[in-house]
Amino acid sequence: MTGAMADEPGGVGVLTEPVNDGPGSGGEPLLELRSLTSGYGDLPAIRDVSLTLHDGEVVALFGANGAGKSTTLCAAVGVLPTMNGEVLWIGERRPKSLSALARNGLAFVPEGRSVISGLSVLDNLRLGSGGVDGALVYFPELEKLLSRPAGLLSGGEQQMLSLGRALATKPRALLADEVSLGLAPIIVDRLFGAIRQASIESGMGVLLVEQQPRRALAIADRWYLLRNGQMVGDGPASDASLLDESYLPSAPATPPEPRPTKKESHQ
Ligand code: ATP
Repeated sequence: MTGAMADEPGGVGVLTEPVNDGPGSGGEPLLELRSLTSGYGDLPAIRDVSLTLHDGEVVALFGANGAGKSTTLCAAVGVLPTMNGEVLWIGERRPKSLSALARNGLAFVPEGRSVISGLSVLDNLRLGSGGVDGALVYFPELEKLLSRPAGLLSGGEQQMLSLGRALATKPRALLADEVSLGLAPIIVDRLFGAIRQASIESGMGVLLVEQQPRRALAIADRWYLLRNGQMVGDGPASDASLLDESYLPSAPATPPEPRPTKKESHQ
């Protein structure tokens, strides 16, 4: 690992350079999707999707609205069926249920803030198997909010609660869907910093579904790009040039040639 973390109030650093250079540290992937097709009812929403996630790496999964990012995560954890291909969890076919996966070290943070609004922050944390202190290590900001109903927290605080509860379980892999949705950049950096910190400290692998490439690439090692349910690119975070060209199709890489005027075109 070559990354460096700068000190920040609250005990959580901000990544200043990428941590891993390549696709994991070798060895067997934590999670592997092999030519996976999945979807809703009889209709596939993703087709032939392959990806790997190794110990200690942060992998970003990008794509426009409706590209199939959430479907990929849900299929990876078994919330959606495998129509074709396979999902391997540490080399073996994935256990049948999400709870079995959780017992095997996989934490899943779905889109939206998965907090129980009527319960206090403390009780929300107590419901997680990682306990209260384990979450406060990553988000000490939650300590003064412990008695507050989770439904009264700000969006960023709710996301800290969701993520803190997941990180407290010390998972081997974290799959998180649009952590940054609707949050201010400073909060997004705070959340991403905590994810990266946890990955560095524990060797946790992270698959991060995101729509904000720049911020996610600041903590990621690699990226994949989905379009219309199919994987159309991947690469190291240090080289997002391919991502720029294909993820932003409306922004051409080179300016278009000036069109000839009517007069010129007849010359
Ligand atoms: P977003 O960033 O907007 O959340 P996404 O990349 O996560 O998008 P998905 O939510 O995976 O995309 O959706 C992929 C495709 O599956 C879309 O065409 C979507 O309309 C469809 N889809 C999603 N959920 C369902 C559902 N419950 N039933 C049927 N089709 C669905």
